[in-house]
Amino acid sequence: MKTPLPSHARVVIIGGGVVGCSILFHLAKMGWKEVVLLERAELTSGSSWHAAGQIHTISSDPNISKLQGYTIGLYPELEKLSGQSVGHHHTGGFYLASSPERLDYLKQERSKARYMGLDQEFVSLQEVAQMHPLIEPKHYLGALYDPLDGHIDPSGVTHAYAKAAKVLGAHYYCRTPVIETRQRADGNWAVVTPEGVINTDLLINAAGLWAREVGHLAGVDLPVQPMEHHYLITETIAEIERATQELPCGIDYDANLYFRQEQNGLLLGTYEPNATPWKVAGTPPEFGHELLQPDLDRVSARLDLAFERIPALARAGIKNVVNGPFTFGPDGNPMIGPVPGMKNYWVAVGVMAGFCQAGGVGLCIAEWIIEGEPSVDVWAMDIARFGEFATHEYGTSKSAENYARRFQISYPNEELPASRRQKTTALYDRLVRAGAVMGVGHGLEHVLWYADSPQNAHETPTLRRSNAFELVATEVRAVREKVGAVEIANFAQHEFTGPGAAAFLDKMLAAKLPARGRLALTPLLTPKGKLYGDLSVARLSNHAGNHADDDAYLLFGSGAAQEMHRRWFEAHLPAAGVHYRNASDAYHGIAISGPNARELLSRITREQVSAEKFRFCDIRRATVGDIPALLARVSFSGELGYEIYCAPPYQLKLFESISAAGEGLGLKLYGARAMMSLRLEKSWGVWTLDYRSDFTAVEAGLARFVADNKPADFIGRAAFRKQKRSGASRQLVTLVVDTDDIDVSRDEAIFHNGACVGFVTSGGYAHYCEKSVALGYVPTELAIHGQEFEIEMLGALHPAKLITQPLYNPLGDKIRS
Ligand SMILES: Cc1cc2nc3c(=O)[nH]c(=O)nc-3n(C[C@H](O)[C@H](O)[C@H](O)COP(=O)(O)OP(=O)(O)OC[C@H]3O[C@@H](n4cnc5c(N)ncnc54)[C@H](O)[C@@H]3O)c2cc1C
Repeated sequence: MKTPLPSHARVVIIGGGVVGCSILFHLAKMGWKEVVLLERAELTSGSSWHAAGQIHTISSDPNISKLQGYTIGLYPELEKLSGQSVGHHHTGGFYLASSPERLDYLKQERSKARYMGLDQEFVSLQEVAQMHPLIEPKHYLGALYDPLDGHIDPSGVTHAYAKAAKVLGAHYYCRTPVIETRQRADGNWAVVTPEGVINTDLLINAAGLWAREVGHLAGVDLPVQPMEHHYLITETIAEIERATQELPCGIDYDANLYFRQEQNGLLLGTYEPNATPWKVAGTPPEFGHELLQPDLDRVSARLDLAFERIPALARAGIKNVVNGPFTFGPDGNPMIGPVPGMKNYWVAVGVMAGFCQAGGVGLCIAEWIIEGEPSVDVWAMDIARFGEFATHEYGTSKSAENYARRFQISYPNEELPASRRQKTTALYDRLVRAGAVMGVGHGLEHVLWYADSPQNAHETPTLRRSNAFELVATEVRAVREKVGAVEIANFAQHEFTGPGAAAFLDKMLAAKLPARGRLALTPLLTPKGKLYGDLSVARLSNHAGNHADDDAYLLFGSGAAQEMHRRWFEAHLPAAGVHYRNASDAYHGIAISGPNARELLSRITREQVSAEKFRFCDIRRATVGDIPALLARVSFSGELGYEIYCAPPYQLKLFESISAAGEGLGLKLYGARAMMSLRLEKSWGVWTLDYRSDFTAVEAGLARFVADNKPADFIGRAAFRKQKRSGASRQLVTLVVDTDDIDVSRDEAIFHNGACVGFVTSGGYAHYCEKSVALGYVPTELAIHGQEFEIEMLGALHPAKLITQPLYNPLGDKIRS
């Protein structure tokens, strides 16, 4: 007889694959017993049962890599607690490079691994041949070795999570399909199954291959797509049978192959370039412990490469070919956390390397639910990095792109082609005609830099300086010496109105709210004092009246983080008195910046814009270029500058007015690359890189914007005060790097006296000051002007010197002029 379902649970997890089971385990481990997992069939009835089981730490994001290290390190504990073997083969693994570019990439990865505490090291090709005699070393230029790598038994791991969770007091129920999820008036969920209904405070969709279908039960569209994937297992290979030690596993990036020992044969898998999305219209409900029809033609070119690189393969017969589906997300990283716009509805979907990642996913979700925030910045996995632009079709085309690129190098200056022009502004065609090279953020196209002609509007992906270098320098010079114009449609705007708006924001934001008609910079903190945003808050008199209660507040922030911030604000909104809207699509605009900016502005507005009448950080509604606009005196360049926002239908007219008025003033269009260079010269950090929830306001040097003595007890105040008293152990600093053809991008290791002491968060070339700059975190005791460091770039150590004043205009009088 089946155990009856409980009528209530704090958390219900839908899906008994490796991801759902890991979440169940981690919630139970952190002390929550009233948590339930529901599985429609048996555990591992999705992709989990037929995985190749290879485990490794390298990933596109350092925090994900760190969490992959955590996942692998968890297996012995899991086995002990559950009594279930996870079949862990701790073989170590190679990452092989057969091109100079790939070798550079591996050097970059090693640098990242240093500060994450992972133990990767280069080994010689002789050592590769010794450890893995079947590999033909002549094809390779180098190999990175990670002792953590290996393989596991996928079914064993999934069952071990579930059993360990049960030992700790949690419950799972098999043959219990969820057929309906209904939200109640109090925000809780009724989870309906043929076995009964469970009321739960919080629901987690971890339905893997069926994530889309389970999402639909609650009206949630998820941009995930199952993809077909092949691996094959050979018959016994005599050399392996004779060997006394198990072979290390490996990834041969350039041949697009992964391999490991399987009994006395080899397992070999590949991510073929012509990716095959599976069941685009939806995963059939009856699909279960099944495999797909193999199609070896699809992978035959890869097999030919494999036969060259591991010649024994060509002699071995194929015992088994597996073609199975598993789910990808648009950028290949998992999508986890509370879904913006929903209440108490969480996801853990699109986890494409579950046996490397599920432990970290489970840990972060459990911390997030129980402690209110994960212990590391999970931005790279946060479902909020997507918004409504990420439709089904977007999910399918980006996931297919990502599948095909799984083992390709991701260059820091590279923009991927799939699903482009999902969102554009009114200026798109004009800017492209002017030579704009476009990038994309949160689905919206924006200008990176301008080529000297539309025919040259292409940037070569590279780990070094690109063909855009000189042209970006010209844009920077125009801003510093004359005036530049940049489109600013890709910032976020959050509107707050209503009688309770001021009190609400006073509690949310760490800075003092500005006076009417003024703007203030403000960090947003979590209860633990971590950064959750660096925003500007403006206070505007409302058209409705002139009473202070009628004032509207507009927050400007990262465009990429707009759904993350929306989720945060909506989660904290009081029942009445505050109206909130993510208004990012309602404000497009153009910023003008440079010594001639005031003259330009005065030609297109009747407003008083003298230094006295329109001061730095003033903001007002005004007619500019004959259109209704919101005019702010701020700039992200360090120069005198103005941001002019308008409703999207007015943007083209604004652009034409600015272009015409710029005649004779040296007006030049510029893009995001120049903007990043300009801000580096001011030592200003940016959200998702230098400022993110890995760091506190004190560490990031943002303490001066925190008004911890204001009357409102804002979120994060106690933690901020505590750290302000005790001091932070690390500090965001600016380093000038000695280099001539390469700049940092992010995550490079920083050395002092031969030891890795910190890491880079962003950087590049400061074109006006003609210096290579890195921003990064180092121990506070080393944050001294003139302190010498070394930064590891593509395997070479470059001297770097710490500066405590910005390179450009340290007095800051230009921006205020
Ligand atoms: C051929 C192949 C090779 C792979 N190799 C590797 C590898 O080497 N290393 C690695 O790390 N990863 C590998 N993977 C990927 C790995 O298998 C996945 O990342 C992982 O299985 C995802 O787990 P999941 O829990 O998210 O989803 P799934 O395993 O799909 O689990 C989802 C579960 O939800 C249940 N469910 C669905 N709908 C409902 C409902 N309505 N009610 C209740 N339950 C429901 C399903 O029955 C299923 O059991 C491979 C995958 C394939 C296909």
